[in-house]
This record gives sequence, structure tokens and C-alpha cells, in this order.
Amino acid sequence: MPFPNRYAFFKGRIVPIKEAQVSIMTHSLHYGTGCFAGLRAYWNKEEEQLFIFRIKDHFCRFINSTRLLYMNIPYTVEQLIGFTLDLLRHEGFRQDAYIRPLAFKSSPVIGVRLHDLEEEVVIFSIPFGRYVQNEEGARATFSSWRRVDDNVIPPRGKITGSYANSALIKTDAYLKGFDEAIVLNQNGHVSEGSAENIFIVRDGVAYTPPVYDNILEGINRRTHIQLLRDELGVETVERPLDRTEVLLADEVFFCGTGVQIAVVIEVDHYSIGAGRMGPVTGQLRQLFFDIVRGKSPKYRHWCTPVYRLESG
Ligand code: PMP
Repeated sequence: MPFPNRYAFFKGRIVPIKEAQVSIMTHSLHYGTGCFAGLRAYWNKEEEQLFIFRIKDHFCRFINSTRLLYMNIPYTVEQLIGFTLDLLRHEGFRQDAYIRPLAFKSSPVIGVRLHDLEEEVVIFSIPFGRYVQNEEGARATFSSWRRVDDNVIPPRGKITGSYANSALIKTDAYLKGFDEAIVLNQNGHVSEGSAENIFIVRDGVAYTPPVYDNILEGINRRTHIQLLRDELGVETVERPLDRTEVLLADEVFFCGTGVQIAVVIEVDHYSIGAGRMGPVTGQLRQLFFDIVRGKSPKYRHWCTPVYRLESG
């Protein structure tokens, strides 16, 4: 089978994936004039259920990204949720999956601009495991690239063109033998990883860069600020972070839909803390993986079941 997935949401309906094709003249293919979302669905084998994590939050951010690109897509958040559930029911996955909604300027037109162009929305989903292989002990480097700036391409929107920046960062790190990179913004402060937010823990306090430091306003970031505070009693301070604060941290982790929670044990050959997963990150990961599989009643509202309505 050429694709592990068989369907796509394309031009307003679910079609076989092979029918979801675009022209080589598509505007966004040339100019990066699209935006996307990335969600995970987690398989719970005891309940034989697939749960999508924080679907509404992802689609609200998706709509905001479209607005930054002067798009006016004809769907509401509720409709997008409905299409996604429909798509996943067609696929029938009984394993963890990744969901990729994408809105893009679809006109077959030459000319760099955002106005007077048609838009399309597509969604597909694939079975998905780890994004960073060394999730329990990643080695990172500070990238020689800088993060795109809000006044260049706003990182607050998941704009396809700005992911050339992420790709440069990721491949640079990979070619140098690291699992991931930490990126500084134009002010020299820590922003995030190539496609994930970052937290550090020092002396029992968590820190993460603020939303005005050229980060994506991550849904996992928001989740962890809440879980750290409410479940682990650890406050998170959102403030600009220096590079050396990362090097001297007791614990460092990346978080995001793709990486989930990836523990950073080394940065540029500096050992982080004891050089292995620390207690705060360890507890947070355990909590998180229970929550996303729908195993925590308190946070069950973050998990949207795909296959049937929950009773009660
Ligand atoms: N930063 C960037 C640049 C990303 O691409 C992602 C992944 N969407 C994140 C952070 C994490 O965001 P989220 O937790 O919403 O997946």
C-alpha cells in the first residue's frame, strides 16, 4: 500500500487520498503562503478508543493563523472538528496518529502577495510514533540560526513559509550530530526548539520563554504550565531566558505535539543536571501520557473520543 492512510478531507469532503491532488502552480507551494495545525490522537486499548488531544484549542489557533494570512476560510472550529472526526472514522486507526490540517493559498498564480487569492483547507492523518527518537535523553545544541521574528514572519501563526527557518535549524543540528536545537531570537534570548517549546527547571521553579519572545503559543506549553502548578506544585515563570540559564538548569525539556515531552540531558556537551531525566520532568511525563490517553478523569475534557460518544 503506497500510503498508510487512505483518505483526506479535500474540497469540502472526505475523498480517497489519491484524489487529493494540487497543481504544481499552487501559490503556496512557491511562496509558503499557508498555515497548518498538528494534532495527536492517542489509542487507548482498554477502552478501544482513539482520543484527540485538545482538538478545539488546536483549531482555534489554526483559525488565528489563517487570519494572519488574510484568509477567510468558510469553516468554523466546530465544523473543522466534525471533518476531523469523520476523517478518522474513515481511517479507523487503532494506534496513535498525527493529524495535519492545512490551509493554503491555492490559486495557480505567479505573484507574491496574500490578497486576491483563493484558499483551500485540507486535513489528513497518519499513524505516528515518536518525533524525536531519544525522547528520554535528547542531546541538543544552540542553533547558529536565529528564530523568525514577529516582524518578519509571525511565529505565533503556524505559517508554512516560516518552517524553512525550523528546517534549517533542525538539519543544522542533525548534521552536527545532535537530536535537536534550541534557537535564540534576535535579542539573543532563548525562544524554543525547531518545532517545540522549551522549559527549564532551576531550584524547584520552572521557566519558559514568554509569548513575546518569538515562540509559537504552544498548546502543550499551556498544558504543562497548568499541570506543573496544579498537579506538581511547581510554578512556571514566563520570562526571557538567557542561554546560560539553560546550561545551568537542573532539568530541561522540549514539549509539543510532535515531541510530546522530550527530556534534554545535554546541551552543547554541557551535562544538564545529573545528565538524566529529572524528577519534575519524569512526573510530568507520566501524568501527561495518562492524560492524553484519556486515563485521567480530571482532564478527560481535553480528550475527544473518535469512535463513539462517551456515556455520562
Ligand atoms: N513551536 C513550534 C515552532 C512548533 O512547530 C510547535 C509544534 N506545533 C510547538 C512549538 C509546540 O506547539 P504545540 O504544543 O501546540 O504542538
